[in-house]
Amino acid sequence: MTEAMTQPIDILIQLQDLDCLIRDLRDPEMASQQQRLGFALEDIQELERSRELLAGQVENERLLQIYERMSRRFVRVIVPVEGRVCTGCRMSLPTSDPTRQADSATCDICENCGRILYRR
Ligand SMILES: [Zn+2]
Repeated sequence: MTEAMTQPIDILIQLQDLDCLIRDLRDPEMASQQQRLGFALEDIQELERSRELLAGQVENERLLQIYERMSRRFVRVIVPVEGRVCTGCRMSLPTSDPTRQADSATCDICENCGRILYRR
């Protein structure tokens, strides 16, 4: 069974974007590219502070824990659902519970890869 968790997905997506940026800046090869684009290495600390603030805004702690755990494994933990396919692993999801409201505030977890899914 997929689990539904209520959490505005926007904050998690912002968190993921920030994590990607921080990860890139920490990578020496990427960092030199980023520096050419105008990012300074000192910005990492600033970004980490913003990240902490953002993480603090996630109300659903369980979802945040899942995100933190999965982000060690995948670059993109939060992925959109296309049709009924998880865009992270390309697996078809079981038919959604027709009684469940498919709204943007509800997140699912992919049973196959464990990524956090959202509907666009
Ligand atoms: Zn998946």
